[in-house]
Amino acid sequence: MTQDSQELVSRRSLLERASLLGTSLALGLPGAASAGATVSAAPGRFKVVVTGGHPGDPEYGCGGTIARYADLGHDVVVLYLNKGVTPEAARAGNAPDRVAEAAKACEILKARPLYAGQIDGNAIVDRERYEQFRTLLEAERPDVVFTHWPIDNHADHRAISMLVYDAWLRMKKAFALYYFEVSNGEDTVQFTPTHYVDISTVAERKRTACYAHASQTPDRFYQLQEAVTRMRGIERGTAQAEGFIRHVQSPDFTLPLIS
Ligand SMILES: [Zn+2]
Repeated sequence: MTQDSQELVSRRSLLERASLLGTSLALGLPGAASAGATVSAAPGRFKVVVTGGHPGDPEYGCGGTIARYADLGHDVVVLYLNKGVTPEAARAGNAPDRVAEAAKACEILKARPLYAGQIDGNAIVDRERYEQFRTLLEAERPDVVFTHWPIDNHADHRAISMLVYDAWLRMKKAFALYYFEVSNGEDTVQFTPTHYVDISTVAERKRTACYAHASQTPDRFYQLQEAVTRMRGIERGTAQAEGFIRHVQSPDFTLPLIS
């Protein structure tokens, strides 16, 4: 079997699996606008990996979507590039325990935290890190990965976006790839969603998860993020929504919440 035909078979089996899931879930979830619909446990589970530069980024950008996938019984991993503490803060000995904050946020969202082992404010993208990150992602066997939109004013956000993208290419686009927005204007810029997830019924839980990052001035950052989800909600026709850009070459796994 050639590499290409192996890839085709592998993609076909994923598509069949996704189609099966989408069909069964659609019975209890008539469209993405139906946030709050209760559905029975899925016959299979997607592995959803949400990556972010720092503790808090996935929660602020995708917290509602994380909660909705987790509530549907899917396996959600939140993968942070670093632990949110600079070497200078660590040396000073007064750094907040951001890993504990992230653990609390993930518990609220019913996700599992994971770390890629880089240093806050010192992201490195080179051949060795590409390899290390791909190995980490391969081990998770994701069906879908969310990451920062690459046009971002923070170098750590750009770094994980590149690491995900390189892994996606090397893994032969074996998972659906979506980009999210966070701290628009300050971090994410030039973001126009292609897909939306209605988060109206889980917005309060997302807020609690964001506020679990108590050391990160949540009053300021959450206010900005909520303005964004309300704007996306207006676009989507719901109270609050999270917007995403799906890579144009991403496989379409018919994820039930994405429309
Ligand atoms: Zn960040």
